[in-house]
Parts: sequence; C-alpha cells; structure tokens
Amino acid sequence: MSTPKSANWQKDVAHVVHPYSNLDAHDTRGPLVITRGDGCYVEDESGNRYLEGMSGLWCASLGFSEKRLVQAATKQLNTLPYYHLFNHRSHPPGIELAEALTAIAPEGLNHVLFANSGSEANDAAIKLVWYYNNLLGRPKKKKIISRLYGYHGVTVASGSLTGLVHVHRDFDLPIPQVKHTDCPSHYHFAQPGESEEQFAERLANNLEKMILEEGADTVAAFIAEPISGSGGVIVPPKGYFERVQAILKKYDVLFIVDEVICGFGRTGQMFGSDSFGLKPDMMTVAKGLSGAYQPISGLLLTDAIHDALKAGSRKHGAFAHGLTYAAHPVAAAVALETIKIYQERKIVEHVQSVAPYFFERLNQLSGHPLVGEVRGMGLLAAVEITSDKASKTPFPPEAGIGAWIQNKAMEHGVIVRAISTCIALCPPLISERQHIDQLVDGLAKALDEAQAHFG
Ligand code: PLP
Repeated sequence: MSTPKSANWQKDVAHVVHPYSNLDAHDTRGPLVITRGDGCYVEDESGNRYLEGMSGLWCASLGFSEKRLVQAATKQLNTLPYYHLFNHRSHPPGIELAEALTAIAPEGLNHVLFANSGSEANDAAIKLVWYYNNLLGRPKKKKIISRLYGYHGVTVASGSLTGLVHVHRDFDLPIPQVKHTDCPSHYHFAQPGESEEQFAERLANNLEKMILEEGADTVAAFIAEPISGSGGVIVPPKGYFERVQAILKKYDVLFIVDEVICGFGRTGQMFGSDSFGLKPDMMTVAKGLSGAYQPISGLLLTDAIHDALKAGSRKHGAFAHGLTYAAHPVAAAVALETIKIYQERKIVEHVQSVAPYFFERLNQLSGHPLVGEVRGMGLLAAVEITSDKASKTPFPPEAGIGAWIQNKAMEHGVIVRAISTCIALCPPLISERQHIDQLVDGLAKALDEAQAHFG
C-alpha cells in the first residue's frame, strides 16, 4: 500500500473512477500508486519494488523497460505522430504491422482491421459477423455463442460475450443475441469419474444441442479464448476444441478465437490457436501485440470474410466502420517493433525453455492444504484455492481468501491476482528462472500464512 494520504492518494480518491475496484471502499483504502518499471519489476511511490507476476493485466510481455519500444515510439512521434486509415489513407507503420501480423497468424487470416483494445476488437468481430451474414442473404443467422467464465471485454457487445455475472448485473447485459454455453473447466464441472475426453464430449454435445435448439440458421458464430484467462485460467480438456470445431463446421458457424491473452507466445506457441490446433475464421489480438507499451488491437479475417466486406462496399459504398485511433502510427510502430523483438529474441522458444521450470516450481505447491489444483500452459497459470481438497469446496467469497493471499504476496514483493477461486500468474515472457523462483516463493509464503489464518 502506498503512503497514506500522499498528494497522489488524495487527488486519486477525489477524481479517479477505478475499473474493477470497489469504488465505495476506495475512498478509505486509496490507490496503490505505481510510479516506475524496470524489467520484470514495478515500483510504487513509497519505493517498494514488486515482481510483476501478472505482467500488469496479462499484457506487459517484454517487461517494463524495453528501450527499443521507447525508441520506436519516439521515432514515430518525430516522423508522423498521427494519421488514420479512413477514406483510403494509409501510413507505413500500419501497412508494415498488417503484413507482419498476417505473416505470423494462423493460416488463412490474411486481413486485419485495427482497433485500440481487446473489447473493441471483439465488438468489431460481432458487427462483422452480422454484416457478413446480411451480405450472404442470411439475415436470421445472427446469434453468437460464448462460454460461461469466458472473458472478452466490457463494451455492450463484448461485455455480453463475457460469461461472468458481475460484468452483466445491473449493466443490462447480455444483449439477447448472445448465448452462453458450458465452461470447459474439468476441475470445476466434470462429473465424478468423468475423464477429460468424456467431459469434452459432453460439452461438445451440449454445444450441438444449443445450436439445434436455437436453430442452426440463427447461430452465426462461436467465440472462445484458447485458454480462458480472467475467468480463472481454464485450460480446455483433451479433445475439446477438436470436437467443438467439427460441430461449428457442421452447422456453418464461424469460429472467432480471442487471442487477447494467449497471443504472442504466452502459451509456448506464437498463438494459443497453434497450441490447440484451432482454425479461426476471425481472431482478435491486443495486449501482447504491443507488449502493452501502446493501446492497439486487431481483428484478423479470412479471405472469405473480407470478400463479404467487399461485397458490402459494392452494395453500400464505404465500409462504414472505423475508429479515429485505429492503427495509430505510434501504436503500430511499437507493435511492429514488439513483433520483431519476439522473433529476434526467439520469445516462443524462451517460453518453451522456462515453462517446464515454472510448472515444476508451481507443482511443488500442489501438496499445500489450500491448493486444489495447479493448471496452465506456457507462462500462464493458476493455483486453485480450496477449503477441502477432496470435495474441491471453495472458500465462501465473503471470506476474501483470494484477496488476502494477493495482499500477503505483495508484502513478499510479488504481484499475483486473485480471480474467481484461484490465484492467477502471468509473468513477463522475458522471465528467467530467478524470477520464477521469486514469484513462486512469494506465493508459497502467502499460502502458508493463509493456511495459518484461515485453516
Ligand atoms: N479478451 C480477453 C481474452 C481479455 O483477457 C481481455 C482483457 O483482459 C479482453 C478481451 C478485453 O481487452 P481490453 O481490456 O483491452 O478491452
């Protein structure tokens, strides 16, 4: 916690509305004001240093002091600080980024529509799915199936895709075109004795049932993260996506893959789609795209969808969608440099080399009385917290054990995040063994203290 009632503290409490924060409690607890970043570490205004075990919000993949990104931004600011892509205008960073992105993307994703955030990219995906089906003469085919505990953002449409009740309640979400199917968490939702494959089969059958009940002629798309992040780092069971993709194909339902967290090496392949054999019709990227040094996102499209957009222009003229700052040249230049760094420093190979150690260390926590499961892939993980390992019973939310562990971990110099019933970890992709040791040691101490307090 930062120094009580510093000038920053007072001004913050007076004026800042904090996302995903208890706005009532904020007046008394105030903000933690982070002032500096250095490699995998950040520092608060009192000089406390933390290993950022969440890469901020799953995004600062190259850490907090990558000079090449600063130089890329400065160079672009000095050359052309702003231009746009409306009305057939273009600029070199936007063009080069589109080329670089489509070159590394899963096969067939040859076109990119830029935006500024993951939410906007997912929002655009919904609009384009609707536009596409209207242009194909299928005006009824509009519903989007998302998953419980999936996270896709907070705008009216992307917040509707998000399968978390707190993102919906009193915000009048979800919109009626969005339906939610099962969450693929074997730990939480498998029936006793059900294997991963059987669980995957049951969920795929439920998806098919939903498509048939809604009417296949009304279901346009299915959206999923390869590994759900904010819903609790949920790794799909074996065979899940294989079965799901077969069903989507059978009913001519587009597959939108949300790579906002999993993209750019997080899972140990360039994209989560590569880790799970996914063949997206549309794919959204953000966060790691620029290593979080600039806000930028993208929606990648196949030729078939792009062709429909062209048909739209033959019908209507201009494609009437676009954001003032989409492909902002400074953000695009930084993203382009980020991709170059990922490639030059072989970030995917680096993740593959440290991930086994990450899980070796995390799996040592499996025997802890509070730990129900350790799960994840690459440099993305969760430690499930339980009050009873055998029955997998979580602590009641009002006990606040997740936030308690998170706060204790900070006292030990590491930032982790309590979400749902787990503690999430998503360290920068540049992490080395010593960072992983510090992260897991800090969490282990917090777990021991939680055991003494809650056990
Ligand atoms: N999709 C996923 C998988 C995310 O994790 C997030 C944010 O955490 C989003 C979309 C939304 O991105 P943004 O917060 O940039 O709007």
